[in-house]
Amino acid sequence: MDQFERLAQLPLRDDLRGQHPYGAPQLDVPILLNVNENTFGVPQDARDAILAAVAAELDHLNRYPDREFTTLRQELAAYLGHGLAEGNIWAANGSNEVLQQLLQAFGGPGRSVMGFPPTYSMYPLLASGTGTSYLAGVRAGDYGLSAESAAAQVREQAPSIVILCSPNNPTGTALGLDVVEAVYEAGEASRTIVIVDEAYAEFSHTGTSSALGLLEGRPRLVVSRTMSKAFAMAGARLGYLAAAPEVTDALRLVRLPYHLSAITQAAAVAALRNSESLLANVEAIKVQRDRIVEGLVELGLTPAPSDSNFVFFGGLEDPNAVWEALLARGVLIRDVGIPGHLRVTAGTEAETTAFLDGMRAILAG
Ligand SMILES: *Cc1c(COP(=O)(O)O)cnc(C)c1O
Repeated sequence: MDQFERLAQLPLRDDLRGQHPYGAPQLDVPILLNVNENTFGVPQDARDAILAAVAAELDHLNRYPDREFTTLRQELAAYLGHGLAEGNIWAANGSNEVLQQLLQAFGGPGRSVMGFPPTYSMYPLLASGTGTSYLAGVRAGDYGLSAESAAAQVREQAPSIVILCSPNNPTGTALGLDVVEAVYEAGEASRTIVIVDEAYAEFSHTGTSSALGLLEGRPRLVVSRTMSKAFAMAGARLGYLAAAPEVTDALRLVRLPYHLSAITQAAAVAALRNSESLLANVEAIKVQRDRIVEGLVELGLTPAPSDSNFVFFGGLEDPNAVWEALLARGVLIRDVGIPGHLRVTAGTEAETTAFLDGMRAILAG
């Protein structure tokens, strides 16, 4: 009996029948460049601070944590700057949970969320989990998205929510703020909530602006961030958003009580107080990212411009064969299911060298 036949015996919701769970392979391989983690790990001083903060929580682990995670919201506001205060900030167990809560509050049955594929594969899954219908917007042939096109699509479809991923996963390219402004304006009549998912913002090229600067005067705009990538804390599960205070009031209606554990809060606060040390590797990762782009161009491939810690590249005749051959050499990258393309995370210098050497050997053979 396969998984689907077993499931069919349960009274599962009709709309979940036949669906596949999120499933990037978790394989035991020396070089993991498949899910855009920060491969540098947590530096020693931040590690010590996190350990001490978590240890201090054990004194009162019998009590529920601060439901309002006040200190954490203050630290996140200070980190983001832009004149934001604690009342503008919300957090949850990864930005995936932040997005799920946004869909629970502003989506749901009879409502819709629009994304622009190829984009983050979790958006349609979060939509189906919350009973929200998913509208797939259209990008240009080069995967770009202009302000005019995005605004026209939002005006026509009038979705309850739009998610703009910038820098976009899996293509890696950031959107101009003109796209965010145009989409927000186009959603005026339908009172559309506009979410900008900036999971990779810290890796952007200098001069790329964050949508945080657009929040003032735009109560339907939400900017989501995470500590999973630049902060090297994917295992800690801490995502957050900045928005008007009334957005956080809406999320209080759907969150589970005490959803952020005392240990998560303590670890994240300690990490933010050591953000300089934790973010020190971001520049090194950007160097490796640019090195991947140059190396792939030399191999005759077509990498997309990247403002993130990964590179999406095309020009492959048989991406699956290349993916397999890299895996045989101990390098795991990501097949995102787009013909002719693969995606690779920028690692340490040695990991990046292993990837580029592998590509050279595979394409020559
Ligand atoms: C990695 C990623 C996230 C982060 O998810 P977390 O739940 O915070 O780990 C969010 N959005 C996109 C587009 C991502 O690629």
